[in-house]
Order: sequence, then structure tokens, then C-alpha cells
Amino acid sequence: MVRIMCRFFILTFPGLLLSTQTLFAADQSVSASAIDIGVIARYDDHGTGIPLDVALKMGVKAIQLKAPYPDKRTDRDVKIILDKVKKAGVRITSVQSGFTNESYKSIDIVRKTVGLIPEATRKERMEQFRGVCVFAKKLGLHTVCFHLGFVPHDTKSTLYKDVVDTMRFCCDFAAGQGLQINLETGQETGPALLQFITDVNRTNLYINFDPANMILYGCGEPIEALKLVGKYVRSVHCKDACWASKRGTDWGKEVPFGQGDVNARLFIQTLKDIGFKGPFIIERENKESPAAQQKDAYEATILVGKLVGEIYRSK
Ligand code: MG
Repeated sequence: MVRIMCRFFILTFPGLLLSTQTLFAADQSVSASAIDIGVIARYDDHGTGIPLDVALKMGVKAIQLKAPYPDKRTDRDVKIILDKVKKAGVRITSVQSGFTNESYKSIDIVRKTVGLIPEATRKERMEQFRGVCVFAKKLGLHTVCFHLGFVPHDTKSTLYKDVVDTMRFCCDFAAGQGLQINLETGQETGPALLQFITDVNRTNLYINFDPANMILYGCGEPIEALKLVGKYVRSVHCKDACWASKRGTDWGKEVPFGQGDVNARLFIQTLKDIGFKGPFIIERENKESPAAQQKDAYEATILVGKLVGEIYRSK
């Protein structure tokens, strides 16, 4: 049985030994924290991450954990998760929160259903967010990430002011749990995100920068945005995408990291330039084909390890 499993794993991740060597080789040139490369993992079937047990066999040093459903956040679950990551020598960098009844079917539907912007679900989702914060604290973490949704463009509107107040409430609750919040980019432009963070005016509000989302949603050139908001970037997703022909109306197309319009090398170089020290979390969404998702994510760990090794080593 063990032999069969080993064979399956080698077939699934044919470059495992190379990957491990590559990561360790790169590790010699920069500090351990700077070289941390990881993937988004899920403990249950919530979200599009890679199953935790698979992720822990990919040769990565870090994972960002998708928050499981509430019934999978018990003390027993926390212990199981911590035991697994400890045994694998992997650290959890943060928890990624999501909310019930969100839909990513189209950009317009995202606008209506995602995050804390839709008024009809806001109160209920703030309660869900509090639950995720408590879970993150139990795991001994310091960061929760999530999509806020489409921040209103009119900064004088009542909706914008309500969302700023909502974000302040979330920040203050998180601070009480010893947590910071990293907002994931994509559904707003760089300048709009900068304005929003300034308006919220809380010291535990930062950014999880996802360059592919800016392309997918048609919200501007990601590298320029990264330079603009750089001082707030505390975590990143190494994810790639190609622009849609009608930017901002149609979805762009998500592709394996390094194969889209992000410019992977320039992205890593810019992260170094703004002083980012890692970790580098790979995101690949492909729920239709878990095998392809895992293969793409695994290959991205090799690419990111190579790029980080080369770029962070150079003066
Ligand atoms: Mg992302």
C-alpha cells in the first residue's frame, strides 16, 4: 500500500525531489522567513484551496489556511490541524476568511454577493468574520485575510461611509484577538484601496496583494498598484491571469503562475523592491480538476523558488 501511495505521489508531483533541493538551495541566500513558499490549503471542502493533507506533501514551508466551515473549527479540529502542520514542518501564515452565499459566477454577481459590501448580508457576515478571528487566535496566528468586495467608488456616499465603519469594527474586533487584517486586492484599483485604508485609519489593516485579481477584475496594472500600496503589503498570492478583451466587464482568465500577464519575475522583483520578506503563497483555482490544480500549484512552487532565489540573492 505504501509503495502504491509513493508511486501515486511521485506521478502526481514528479519534481518533488528537485523542488525540495531548489527551495533549500534558495534558502541559503536569504533568511528563512524570506524564502517561505507555500500554497493555499483547505481543511474541509470550503473554498478552492488544495486539501491540507496534499498541501503538506508538496515540499512547501508554509500554508495559508482557508477557514473551514464553523462545525470544523472545534478545539479538536484545531488540535488536528496543528498536529498535522507540526509533523510536516510547515507553518500556517494566516487564515483566509470567506462568507456564506458568495458567488463568483460573474463580475457583476461578485459585486452583488461578495464580502461585506452587500447590505442585506453584512451584519450576518460580520458575525461570521468574528468566528473566523476566534478560530485564527486558537491556531495561534496573527493574521486573517479576506475579500471585502467592491468598495464603492463614491467616497462621499452613505454606502462608502458605512463600509468604512464596518471595516473599523472588524479591525477593532480583530485587534482584540491580537490579529491584523490583510485585505485581498482585486475588486478595486490601487488608488481606491489606498484611499480606503487611509480612511479606515486603523493600525492593524494591511493588504494581501493578489496581482491576478487585478487582471481578472480589470482593475488596473498590478505592478503599478503594488508599487503604490507597497507599504501596506503584508502577504501575497502568487497567482496569474490574462486580461479579458472587455476589461472590467468580462472575467479575465486565470492561468498557472508564470503563464499570464502578471509578469512573474517583475512581480517578485517589485516585492523585493518594496521590502517584502515573504511568504510567497501560491494560489491556483481549478475546482473542476483537482489533479491539474495540484500539478500547477506544485510547478509554481518550483518557479517561485527559482525566482525568489535569483532575485533576493542579487544586490
Ligand atoms: Mg487570491
